[in-house]
Amino acid sequence: MSILVINSGSSSLKIKIFSDVNKPAIVHGSLEKIGEEQSVLSCQFSQKTINKKITCADHYEGLEQFFSILKQNDALLDIIAIGHRVVHGGEDFSQPVKIDDNVISVIEKNIPLAPLHNPENLKGIQATMQMFPSVAQVAVFDTAFHQTMPEYAYRYAVPNSFYEQQKIRRYGFHGSSHQYVSKEAARILQKPIAQTSLITLHLGNGASATAIKNGKSIDTSMGMTPLEGLIMGTRCGDIDPGVLLFLLQTHTHDKLDKILNKKSGLLGLCQRNDMRDIESQDTRESQRAIKMVVHRVQKYIGSYYAQLPELDAIVFTAGIGENSILIRELCCANLAHLGIELCSDKNGNTSYGEIQKSHSKVKILVIPTNEEMEIARQTHNLINA
Ligand code: ADP
Repeated sequence: MSILVINSGSSSLKIKIFSDVNKPAIVHGSLEKIGEEQSVLSCQFSQKTINKKITCADHYEGLEQFFSILKQNDALLDIIAIGHRVVHGGEDFSQPVKIDDNVISVIEKNIPLAPLHNPENLKGIQATMQMFPSVAQVAVFDTAFHQTMPEYAYRYAVPNSFYEQQKIRRYGFHGSSHQYVSKEAARILQKPIAQTSLITLHLGNGASATAIKNGKSIDTSMGMTPLEGLIMGTRCGDIDPGVLLFLLQTHTHDKLDKILNKKSGLLGLCQRNDMRDIESQDTRESQRAIKMVVHRVQKYIGSYYAQLPELDAIVFTAGIGENSILIRELCCANLAHLGIELCSDKNGNTSYGEIQKSHSKVKILVIPTNEEMEIARQTHNLINA
């Protein structure tokens, strides 16, 4: 009895198969550069790995090729449900749902809120519904975990009609990741999740921070779109809206969209967006970029600390959070007055678990994220409910 998880990005597809939702996936697949001259497919089974270049015009073709490989390797025999990552559920979904025509039309309705992501997620859903008509399909939304935010945290201070008519508000993203690491953190802290308060820092190419009070998201740094908040690989994060008004006088909407989403962040500051390269450079630009990233993270730590009645732990996750000893060290530097004290030795030697000094009031945790496992668990729980 296995669960297949599908994560369709704008030009990529990731799949995982879980035979037990509490154990690592038994199959990992990824397909990159969909729609380009050559796409790169990789599929890892327990005994073998397949890597090949294929031609693949769209997500439907990509899934067909994946499923043919999975079939040849008997990996599809006992799939009982398929969990799909869907980026934007708007205000309509605070829980995973079984996909039917109504759910599809609501995901379509939310396309204006995530024009780059929801159409690709829908392609994955529609393709698998045709290929597996009798298997239960479940949508797990990136935004769902943050639906517990109070109104004063999710509303923007613009005229009410913008919210009432166009649903302009903070939604937040990376929900499956923040939820997954928060549960893992509670397990490490040996506290019930409903009594655990955390600041979770998902620092990857996309990055977001979340304040979690008693297991629930009460504030998060990404907003109506994934552009707000922390400084990211290619996204600017927080910026004075006046800058956009100023730039709109000389830039078209499309150009500005591209600049802020694809040419800003680390890439805009030092011509590269891989933190490993930036850390290895010793230039003024790279040092300034690192200082800016860390300054922004600390702003959020302070802001979220102030919103929580107590703070059990700060959690680092995703590519940078899990791997960058330097960024973790700098993000926790000079916070002893807040009871946050990182141990450099543990920080340098730990890829999972606690890295604070023994007397630090607040724990500091490194927890590798596993969004697909969270999606598999939620899919499993829903179909067994
Ligand atoms: P995505 O948002 O694309 O899922 P990831 O969570 O995979 O991103 O994070 C990717 C980023 O993690 C890379 O851009 C790279 O900068 C960073 N990263 C990975 N390993 C390290 C490392 N050892 N040191 C610093 N940064 C790292």
